[in-house]
Amino acid sequence: MPFPYIARFREALAAIRREGRYRVFTDIVRARGNYPQADFHAQGAKRPVVVWCSNDYLGMGQHPKVLAAMHEAIDAAGAGSGGTRNISGTTHYHVELEAELAELHGKESALLFTSGFVSNDATLATLAKLLPGLVVFSDALNHASMIEGIRHGGMQKRIFRHSDMADLRRQLSETDPAAPKLIAFESVYSMDGDFAPVNAICDLAEEFGALTYIDEVHGVGLYGPRGAGVAAREGAMERIDIVEGTLAKAFGVMGGYIAASGELVDCIRSHAPGFIFTTSLAPTIAAGVLASVRHLKDSDVERETLMARAALLKRLLAEAGLPVMETPSHIVPVLVGEAALCKSVSDALLYEHGIYVQPVNFPTVPRGGERLRFTPSPLHSEAMLHELVRALDQVWTAHRLGRAA
Ligand code: PLP
Repeated sequence: MPFPYIARFREALAAIRREGRYRVFTDIVRARGNYPQADFHAQGAKRPVVVWCSNDYLGMGQHPKVLAAMHEAIDAAGAGSGGTRNISGTTHYHVELEAELAELHGKESALLFTSGFVSNDATLATLAKLLPGLVVFSDALNHASMIEGIRHGGMQKRIFRHSDMADLRRQLSETDPAAPKLIAFESVYSMDGDFAPVNAICDLAEEFGALTYIDEVHGVGLYGPRGAGVAAREGAMERIDIVEGTLAKAFGVMGGYIAASGELVDCIRSHAPGFIFTTSLAPTIAAGVLASVRHLKDSDVERETLMARAALLKRLLAEAGLPVMETPSHIVPVLVGEAALCKSVSDALLYEHGIYVQPVNFPTVPRGGERLRFTPSPLHSEAMLHELVRALDQVWTAHRLGRAA
């Protein structure tokens, strides 16, 4: 009797369907130069939608400077890089981008990866190999990429309650003072939109002799002088040992990186399989990111307009009695609290109102925390904000969902 492979796969899929969290991808094409407009493809037809859940927070993925740089690079250097960084895949675009990112964070060196996920996974796992006996203190809400990196490294892991400094202190004080330690946290938690207490974490790191590792994936480009992130805004950049970021969200393209001391970056470059044994980013990607980072170092208008739009959207939702979660950041989550309902609200917005917001379900958020996560950008007009709230209000009533007090 052969092993019932297909039956096992079907059972696994049926289980997530029963919970109402089977993922259905929404097939869109963003309209160049016309973001947040996109075409939604379904059943052989396409219809216009407004995208409300992209992490292209500043619309840089559509910025003329970025597109021009990518066109120029493809004309100059062709499509792919042709190799790993060590074997013909280091182009001048990569070298310049790493220098630009190191300068952005005031660090000696930076290192590119093919994604933010890979940068977290590869760096954390490799740190465990470089520092035998390493104990990692990981915030309870850390992203899956950090969790994977910590797991791959096989180091001892202690999870502290989300942004809870008393719990972090307790756990640090219970750990062998001689052991190497690292505190891993995010600057902006992307589902709840809250900021980490960066300086308080650095205080504890100094007191207990731990390295600090900050994931600024939802902070870079958006906060701090020149878009250097939340740690820079808090005046804590020098207190951070390793900054990790993405090139795919506020910078609008693709890829990830770390920035740190020359020695640390050189060690990761020399030891991390996730960096060494993979083809480097295409030159055109590096060129687009370089244009984006340079632009956002000089220009505040995108950041300022985004923050104004996010504040207005939160106010309009609250005025309509919709349960918008209070966040200090640019992220605007609206709680639904049940997976199938969340999907149904999202479908109604998409099919009846041309508004695209993906439902966020477990395991991205805890069960009961299912939500719609709206991400306004500077390119969402005020009229679009009003239209969104009007549509959500109608859908909310049709679903007999509760209103905020
Ligand atoms: N870290 C955090 C906190 C994230 O939210 C994400 C992606 O959503 C990543 C890392 C991975 O970044 P990337 O999308 O560049 O792989």
